[in-house]
Amino acid sequence: MREEENDYLFKIVIIGDSAVGKSNLLNRFTRNEFTEKTKATIGVDFGTKSIEIEGKVITAQCWDTAGQERFRAVTSGYYRGALGAMIVYDITSKISFKNVTRWLNELREMAEPDILVMMVGNKSDLESSREVSTREAQSFAEANKISFLETSALNSTNVNLSFEKLLTDIYNQFG
Ligand code: GDP
Ligand code: MG
Repeated sequence: MREEENDYLFKIVIIGDSAVGKSNLLNRFTRNEFTEKTKATIGVDFGTKSIEIEGKVITAQCWDTAGQERFRAVTSGYYRGALGAMIVYDITSKISFKNVTRWLNELREMAEPDILVMMVGNKSDLESSREVSTREAQSFAEANKISFLETSALNSTNVNLSFEKLLTDIYNQFG
């Protein structure tokens, strides 16, 4: 058996309003699992997954706020050492998209200034309940110079791609 190599360890924080699907995105990416019911985890949870980028083994250590989503409830320790952030909103919730601005401001205050950001519009499977257009989100992302994808933790659409894109951006900047 080949010994596991681990060339890089990148910390990523997942932030965004409550119930947008952060924990399910994490579980889909790291364990290929989805749960209908929200598990009320207390404290900070994280999952790891290794992927290969340009022949290097990149281990992503993804932190989940786990019920600390109230504004300013996330502590600075959560952001310490993070090279990437995934800001999640729910495409069926206009308010969760509006609050992306607050999460960006929190990152500016609490995280490293050169942290790479991927904005994710989750629950793309719920097209009939959509409240945030793709175009509107795209122009917001461009204006704020952050990456953007729509995902579904339920049917897996773009979940791996969004994490891989963020990790590749980190690798290109810091690797
Ligand atoms: P968190 O509070 O941001 O961690 O959100 P959760 O991951 O706990 O998800 C909140 C609720 O949304 C749960 O009932 C999930 O089953 C549901 N959910 C999460 N992701 C999706 C998705 O992509 N599509 C749909 N339809 N529901 C989702
Ligand atoms: Mg959660």
